[in-house]
Amino acid sequence: MPIATVNPANGETLRTFEALDGAGIEQRLAAADSAFRRYRTTGFAERARLLNQAAVLLDEDQRDIARTMTIEMGKPIGAARAEAAKCAKAMRWYAAHAEELLADQYPSAADVRDSGASRAYVHYRPLGAVLAVMPWNFPLWQVVRFAAPALMAGNVGLLKHASNVPQTAMYLEGLFRRAGFPAGCFQSLLVGSGAVEGILRDGRVAAATLTGSEPAGRSVASIAGDEVKHTVLELGGSDPYLVMPSADVARAARTAVTARVQNNGQSCIAAKRFIVHTEVYDEFAERFTVGMNDLTVGDPMEESTDVGPLASAQGRADLEELVDDAVRQGATALCGGARPEGLAPGLERGWFYAPTVLAGITPAMRIHHEETFGPVASLYRVDGLDEAVALANDSPFGLSSNVWTRDQDEARRCVRDLEAGGVFFNGMTASHPALPFGGVKRSGYGRELAGQGIRAFCNATTVWYG
Ligand code: NAP
Repeated sequence: MPIATVNPANGETLRTFEALDGAGIEQRLAAADSAFRRYRTTGFAERARLLNQAAVLLDEDQRDIARTMTIEMGKPIGAARAEAAKCAKAMRWYAAHAEELLADQYPSAADVRDSGASRAYVHYRPLGAVLAVMPWNFPLWQVVRFAAPALMAGNVGLLKHASNVPQTAMYLEGLFRRAGFPAGCFQSLLVGSGAVEGILRDGRVAAATLTGSEPAGRSVASIAGDEVKHTVLELGGSDPYLVMPSADVARAARTAVTARVQNNGQSCIAAKRFIVHTEVYDEFAERFTVGMNDLTVGDPMEESTDVGPLASAQGRADLEELVDDAVRQGATALCGGARPEGLAPGLERGWFYAPTVLAGITPAMRIHHEETFGPVASLYRVDGLDEAVALANDSPFGLSSNVWTRDQDEARRCVRDLEAGGVFFNGMTASHPALPFGGVKRSGYGRELAGQGIRAFCNATTVWYG
């Protein structure tokens, strides 16, 4: 894949970039290594000062970086500004909380005595340079979600961003530098995915985190495994969205539209499979389909646009294949099911797809098991909670889940039984710095955000005094 900015709204190539050569990679690895040796000894107050300054700059830059993101990957401009604001918030959160999250931990006095120590505790130390392989869909947020805790813990970051968001990648390097982080603390490596193996095997890289597809995750994790290096994987999702009879169906249907089409439908935690109790199925299906149909599809630079283009021609082709396969095998498109008509002049060459609701999905269809990375919803009718949970779990993925119910017993059973990294009731899944984020099954392992996220790239060191 060339490293380039290609506007998904019209297919125009705006800027191309030369990939780093071997000497360029070597220079950055050396810079990261030497930066880590000094930066690891800085205190929390100094790191927090730098990260807070990055948040100030990001807020100042919000309009410009939002435009860059929208041009590079097509998200609606309002959502791009919101993403930048969310990143600044996460930076401030980690600046404020890292010291307490990484405070020394003391076992009970009885356990200390039992270990034969006069004193013993756990002390969190940084690991070193962490390689972050990141996707284009939330091109600022995915990176900041890793970088803010990593930098507060005293690690340094090497970002291999997706090849279609090079300007956002370079912006991030510049942002941390302008905030005052020492040279080498956060660098973008403009390289294709073929260069990842050599970088990951380099002795100066301590660990890796990857957000992206399952094949990419498998490749990075197996190389890291071979090198005995720690990894966190945030992979795909096909989150279920259960609607039970006690739900506020109107609200559930309104939220379902947002939950499905956020980020033009290209979100790992988007709700993708809508599993609805038969008692409320007809009402939900009607409201949801009307809501999906009413969305404005068009130029993502327009404030009034709800759904912009998919980020790549390949992404749209993959989505079309999944829909066509389902329809060929008997699924019904309640709306959409094709490229949208009537787009404004100039957008005909963009990679748009109409918001789509498919009913009558069966396990024989690919869409039942695969992730739909675009504005396509699968709708299922079930007779009760057991069937709903079984269907929800009938997926290789386990990222998050959504349940609409006012019944406490149903809620308790969902918390117990849904195979996912999160269960969100009467709302849609969203990440927050204070809450851990991550999945089970093929959605990956490890957690980002909260205390779990910052400790993921730390050496939990046992300190013992005889
Ligand atoms: P992708 O193709 O896997 O790309 C993600 C990153 O991995 C890019 O930087 C890519 O580089 C790199 N990459 C691809 N193949 C690689 C390989 N074999 N070895 C090393 N690096 C490799 O994924 P995407 O299409 O950008 O993103 C969509 C996927 O990400 C979806 O499945 C989505 O659900 C998932 N996702 C998960 C989360 C989460 O938090 N769980 C969040 C967002 C997205 P190039 O661009 O140079 O190919």
